[in-house]
Amino acid sequence: MLNIAIFGAPGCGKGTQSELIVEKYQLHHISTGDVLRAEMEKQTKLGKLAEGYIQKGHLVPDDLIIKMLADILESNPNEKGFIFDGFPRTITQGEALDHLLRDKNESIIAVLNLDVEEEILTERLSKRGEEQGRCDDNPEIIRKRLETYKVQTEPLIAYYKKQGKHFTVKGNKPVNDVFENIREILDRLIYQNK
Ligand code: ADP
Repeated sequence: MLNIAIFGAPGCGKGTQSELIVEKYQLHHISTGDVLRAEMEKQTKLGKLAEGYIQKGHLVPDDLIIKMLADILESNPNEKGFIFDGFPRTITQGEALDHLLRDKNESIIAVLNLDVEEEILTERLSKRGEEQGRCDDNPEIIRKRLETYKVQTEPLIAYYKKQGKHFTVKGNKPVNDVFENIREILDRLIYQNK
């Protein structure tokens, strides 16, 4: 299996790059943000719980997210691999993911960190807010999400560096150039793991 996680600050282009990766490597895409938004739309119990956190720019509590992810993994047993987009976002989630994959005799092969300067992130997110009307893309909440990212998610960089799985990709470039860098990294890893 080929299991990859992609992370970076809000607005870094995770979703766009994940779609390109899915197409090329035929992986199952799990975007925890998309799953949560669908749950909110359907007004499920999880959706209603998540809404309050998302609207404030906070993370949804680890136990809810980890359970949600475990259920998705369980209901997709025959995939070639997964791309985890927006997960893990805390050390606790990273450890949980390692355990869940270990139970299947699997592991993460690479964690791609899409690196984009803060001013560009803010600009992209404000534009998206105007175009798509996402409830968390307004200036005050954007600031909060960037702060949440720095405090809770950035420590994962060291976690994956220690495992030798961390790869930085410069995200402030045209979409196809970013993808070309990702493709080089993944193709090399696939070749080495053959
Ligand atoms: P972005 O990366 O632009 O913030 P996402 O769609 O990945 O967008 O996430 C939107 C929101 O959903 C986050 O701000 C957070 O509240 C919630 N969320 C998504 N994934 C997770 C996660 N792994 N853990 C906790 N909360 C999450």
